[in-house]
Amino acid sequence: MPRGEAAPSLDRLPVTALRGVGPRMAGKLARLGIESVQDLLFHLPLRYQDRTRILPMGSLRPGDQAVVEGCIELAEVKFGRRRMLLVRLGDGTGQLTLRFFHFNASQQASLQRGVRLRCYGEIRAGGATLEMIHPEYQAVSDAAPPAVETHLTPIYPTTEGVHQLTLRGLTEQALALLAADPDALPDWLPSELLEGLGLPGLAEALAVMHRPPAETPLEALLADGHPARRRLVFEELLAHHLSLRQLRQRAQQTRALPLAGDGRLRSQLLEGLGFLPTAAQRRVAAEIEADLQRPHPMLRLVQGDVGSGKTLVAVLAALQAVEAGAQAAVMAPTELLAEQHCRTFAAWLAPLGLEVAWLSGKTKGRARRDALAAIADGSAPLVVGTHALFQEEVTFARLGLVIVDEQHRFGVHQRLALRDKGRHGEWHPHQLTLTATPIPRTLAMAVYADLDTSLIDELPPGRQPVQTVVIPDSRRAEVVQRVERACAGGQQAYWVCTLIEESEALQCQAAEDAAQQLGEALPGLRVGLVHGRMKAQEKEAVMAAFKAGDIQLLVATTVIEVGVDVPNASLMIIENAERLGLAQLHQLRGRVGRGAAQSSCVLMYHPPLSRLARERLAVLRETSDGFEIARRDLELRGPGEVLGTRQTGLLQMRIADLLRDQAQLPRVEQVAGLLLERHPQRVAPLIRRWLGERLRYGEV
Ligand code: ADP
Ligand code: MG
Repeated sequence: MPRGEAAPSLDRLPVTALRGVGPRMAGKLARLGIESVQDLLFHLPLRYQDRTRILPMGSLRPGDQAVVEGCIELAEVKFGRRRMLLVRLGDGTGQLTLRFFHFNASQQASLQRGVRLRCYGEIRAGGATLEMIHPEYQAVSDAAPPAVETHLTPIYPTTEGVHQLTLRGLTEQALALLAADPDALPDWLPSELLEGLGLPGLAEALAVMHRPPAETPLEALLADGHPARRRLVFEELLAHHLSLRQLRQRAQQTRALPLAGDGRLRSQLLEGLGFLPTAAQRRVAAEIEADLQRPHPMLRLVQGDVGSGKTLVAVLAALQAVEAGAQAAVMAPTELLAEQHCRTFAAWLAPLGLEVAWLSGKTKGRARRDALAAIADGSAPLVVGTHALFQEEVTFARLGLVIVDEQHRFGVHQRLALRDKGRHGEWHPHQLTLTATPIPRTLAMAVYADLDTSLIDELPPGRQPVQTVVIPDSRRAEVVQRVERACAGGQQAYWVCTLIEESEALQCQAAEDAAQQLGEALPGLRVGLVHGRMKAQEKEAVMAAFKAGDIQLLVATTVIEVGVDVPNASLMIIENAERLGLAQLHQLRGRVGRGAAQSSCVLMYHPPLSRLARERLAVLRETSDGFEIARRDLELRGPGEVLGTRQTGLLQMRIADLLRDQAQLPRVEQVAGLLLERHPQRVAPLIRRWLGERLRYGEV
């Protein structure tokens, strides 16, 4: 590079500028998301090997990865079930056996008694001595032993045809470029901030992560203790947070129909309700009311524990849209829940003279044509359904508001897709999402930063916590008796069958079998069955009969997990409870405890129970607070599982771990605000650096 001419910054320098990268290698690297030298520098090691010290054999333990050095005391080929070469090494402190299943004659010839070897590999427990299987090894001379590594050896995520040595060589070159000109990779974090945060600069942090000096504590480097790691974690969390904020900003720049409404329908509804909204419901409804009046789309998430009354808040929002002459669409993740909403909405809205249209994937023929027509000409002010609502053939006359229930089943991508699909021309609908998986505020900041959030932090009065017991299924007969007693006393019960198999057919079969057995065991009881494979009408008839008290015991699959609302049901049995997630169990349990009667939940498990499963069930026994349960679930299973976002890519971070690193989130939020305000031009390159092309917001 001629002097005085600015070097290209590393985000624009293609990897092909490095030695040894031709078009073929460039193609392979692209599969790892590596196109520029910057990408390479942000391709961080997964873990490290310590080849900086030669360990005495006497100090080795199985599971260690270690460098050892010693003399061959014995080398022999054994003919057992498989031919193998055994080489015994000793270093004066102990002995180690190397075991080779694949070897050629020249290898065999070189591994002779008296030769000095340096080996690297994993230590395993063996017969007489500890062992290494197929270690890396080299013969060394006593006179001039090769130096050991001066840095911990990085192990990179890789793909077929790209060797660790290749990645090491390439990152070596990239680090050299960076060392020669630290400005070639701009540090988007303002230096005044870094000092305040006690974090090192970018170039320094990257150098340490790729080539940690020998004495670097590995634990800290892989967990959260090391400043270099903390610096990069911070930056990655910041990039993710900013990407969501940017998403929100963009949405706020788009236009939406302001939905003022005159309050007429809403007051009519409240008058006929038979109960008063809680203070929390009123507060959240007011927040939504204000949002809907703005000419930009609302993006609001309502978090509220099971039974906190989210539906009422949703209905009020829908009515505001209808008052303003717009349509509202309510989408639920399952057919059963959507049907339930449809019934609730219909029952509440019939006295107001409003009809509710229904559309799911299973709506066929005439019913489908009618629904589509009513949606398209605007004669249906309110539509309830599943994601079928957003298929291409569905066009709304004047969609003003989209309500999505049980948001934890949808990831950010679905959220984006929905926003886009509901669009007509330059108008975007307002969007309200409801979730019963409340998550701690810090985490919400990371996961829902594209949304405003409201919290219904109060249950309607008179609710008693559900008494929960955990018992093995060997005591099933007792449980059956308990059901009998409860129903004889006028209560109603759920019996939930779970299966680990994804197959809906098997689940339904299990529920059918259980219903039959229970019917035989309890001949005096009216037993009903509901599962996902029944026709909508059949399901509806069963649910109606249960609600009316004609069915005393309802056997069901987990289709009843969300939303189903029958206040007189006060006993719930869950079979194989150990197979379900905590949030799911909490949801299920939330089907009881809705009326005045003291309710109970029996979590039946199939022994033996793993320690983790035991802990999880204990959480449910100990608390009925959805926040606490979510917090413990997050600890036990991690955010990807709990939030259902594992597959969406949003939480697939390179170095940060939402749970482990959540202590950083409040500062991430602060710094994001600062950056947007003072250095807005840094935001886009920072996001691109970490997220690349993974989220193409503008185009969704
Ligand atoms: P979730 O938040 O789990 O969706 P729902 O909206 O299904 O809860 O409400 C649970 C039950 O509580 C329903 O039967 C609903 O009619 C009732 N409910 C809602 N709000 C109140 C209130 N303020 N007072 C009494 N009951 C209420
Ligand atoms: Mg609900």
